[in-house]
Amino acid sequence: MHTCDSCQHQITTFADYFSNNLYTWCTNCGNYGIHAAVKRALTAENRHACETLLCFDIGCHGNGSDKIGGYRFHGLHGRILPFACGASVANRNLTVMAFGGDGGTLGEGINHLIHAIRGNYNVTFILHNNLNYGLTQGQASSTTKPGMIMTAAPDGITSDPIHPMRFVLSLQPSFAARTFSGDVKHMTETIRAGVRHQGFSFIEILQSCPTYNKATPHEWYQSRVKDVSTLAGYEPSNIAAAREISEDIENQIAIGVLYQNPSSRPFMERQANRQQVTTELINEVAMGDTSKLFDAYR
Ligand code: SF4
Repeated sequence: MHTCDSCQHQITTFADYFSNNLYTWCTNCGNYGIHAAVKRALTAENRHACETLLCFDIGCHGNGSDKIGGYRFHGLHGRILPFACGASVANRNLTVMAFGGDGGTLGEGINHLIHAIRGNYNVTFILHNNLNYGLTQGQASSTTKPGMIMTAAPDGITSDPIHPMRFVLSLQPSFAARTFSGDVKHMTETIRAGVRHQGFSFIEILQSCPTYNKATPHEWYQSRVKDVSTLAGYEPSNIAAAREISEDIENQIAIGVLYQNPSSRPFMERQANRQQVTTELINEVAMGDTSKLFDAYR
């Protein structure tokens, strides 16, 4: 049986991720279901809160960073991935999850997404894609559909949107999945698969934002999604098939694990100088006295 190194817990329960802080999201926001799914997935995978790091970007989802138990970090807008990838490198025993919105991830921080995928860092990343900047009251993001009237865009959006899955699959990721915030069970199973994956797991969650995006509520997604695991012959190791099936995001929207490289090796496994090393970088920093080095640059 698994025993937590930090607190000697043998099993993880839903209560380990409980927080007394009250949620501040709007009624029926998709973030409620996503939070529940994250907690369920980590519990089901027996990833105790003492061995898990949850990293939140700025955005409505990030306002949930103090409404969940365990170790958490709330970073700068669009910059959560460098922090999360660094944490996964520093301590391979940690389960690292990161969360970002479509605004921060595909706007300010899009470069970080590219390099997190290239490096194949051992991080499960959740993209909260609600098609707008909700926290700042409904401005257009990189995924807002053309023609939509948004705050500060009364005549409608004219720029073409980024298609997140098309973009990510063009970067040859090791894991790419999609789910939607109206189905906690499906989100839970998708996140579990991402957490188990060795390498960078990209999970797009199509999220409802009933306050600023009334065009795509849960019912809209519910009537359009189809789970690829129910399709005869669908093979998630075939990236060409994933590219083809993930294109449609208007009528028949493919969800589930769209692509997974079965031979994925995370960043640290590719480092020749770490192969025989049994310590983690965080242990090695503690072994050396770096105070003199810092003193030299005061
Ligand atoms: Fe949720 Fe949208 Fe409200 Fe933000 S603005 S809390 S995403 S419903």
